[in-house]
Amino acid sequence: MTNTVPHSDALMEITPRPDIVFTKGKGSWLEDSTGRAYLDMIQGWAVNCLGHCPPQISQALTEQGQRLINPSPAFFNQAMLDLAQRLCSASCFDRVFFANSGAEANEGAIKLARKWGQKHRHGAYKIITFDHSFHGRTLATMSASGKEGWDRKFAPQVEGFPKAEFNDLDSVKALLDDDTVAVMLEPVQGEGGVIPATPEFIQGLRALTKDHNILLIVDEVQSGMGRCGALFAHQLFDIAPDIMTLGKGIGGGVPLAALLSTEAVSCFEYGDQGGTYNGNPLMCAVGVAVFDALTAPEFMSTVQTRAQQLSDGLLALADKHGLEGERGLGLLRALKLGGDFGPALVDAARQRPEQGLLLNAPRPNLLRFMPALNISQEDLQLALQWLDVLISKCQR
Ligand SMILES: *Cc1c(COP(=O)(O)O)cnc(C)c1O
Repeated sequence: MTNTVPHSDALMEITPRPDIVFTKGKGSWLEDSTGRAYLDMIQGWAVNCLGHCPPQISQALTEQGQRLINPSPAFFNQAMLDLAQRLCSASCFDRVFFANSGAEANEGAIKLARKWGQKHRHGAYKIITFDHSFHGRTLATMSASGKEGWDRKFAPQVEGFPKAEFNDLDSVKALLDDDTVAVMLEPVQGEGGVIPATPEFIQGLRALTKDHNILLIVDEVQSGMGRCGALFAHQLFDIAPDIMTLGKGIGGGVPLAALLSTEAVSCFEYGDQGGTYNGNPLMCAVGVAVFDALTAPEFMSTVQTRAQQLSDGLLALADKHGLEGERGLGLLRALKLGGDFGPALVDAARQRPEQGLLLNAPRPNLLRFMPALNISQEDLQLALQWLDVLISKCQR
């Protein structure tokens, strides 16, 4: 693809980008440099949980930016303390380490599990992960991911991530050995196509890992922070994991992520873990503002109402157009197209007359929806109406 956007050849080409430069955002809407508006069902890939430029985040950035930006990770700051306390009080976890991206939080989870294995399981180090899973783009998290070929793409990579089949407990049992220290999964596989774990599977994994005295790690980088209609998706299954990672929504659009563990598993020693920006007050102040918005009375019940609206709307479209159906949890949902016209839909939606619609197709036969958690009923209805017309146009 050749871009006509000025200076775009100064950037490394890591993904095909359309010839658009975004300049403004407000709530569920984006605006480009020509003044054209787009209704956004992507929201930075499930990142902007409160939409574009929400007042809470702008205010937190301004206030904290004028007070203190970075005293160094070797000192406490108030925002870091406030956010850690909030996350622990709302979860089954006791300790938090802040990171800057989901992949970095997952690297931390892998290190913590291996450290725990060294201390308590005679050096056990293998972490069972799943086909079609996604855990990030560092060397270790690529190796942990279940994308075809990803464990060898930049060889030599990191050993010790045998792959089981998602929602198949027997496939996990078959991989267990004396070197196994943990099982790591996404409660809803996001990049893999919005595939929720079944309750029997994830509860079975909790029982299995307990029986074998190994750790259960949930990667909630995409499913966490209200995305699935509960603050953390694993809470919907009524389980208590040993380790959880958060990213994306936790910062509402700014780079913030977290690694959480129970007291029993929190075994890093001085020098094992760190990083220049970890727990910096500017990002943590935003995290506090986002957390307080997500946990305000009525917020989560409104997410559930919008999720029902989206689910009903997608099902109606599937019925009308003879598509395969829909699936997901909360406001992380997919429309199963039953044909490979996802990319054509994405392009047609972005280029539709007057106002564009931003959609994502993680697989050619699937659309993924990750709107702002506070999207209005009207905006969601508009997206579904536009989609109805677009499907008629693109379906083959
Ligand atoms: C996006 C994502 C990651 C990686 O997060 P980055 O911030 O891009 O490093 C890890 N795990 C899951 C489940 C994700 O969706």
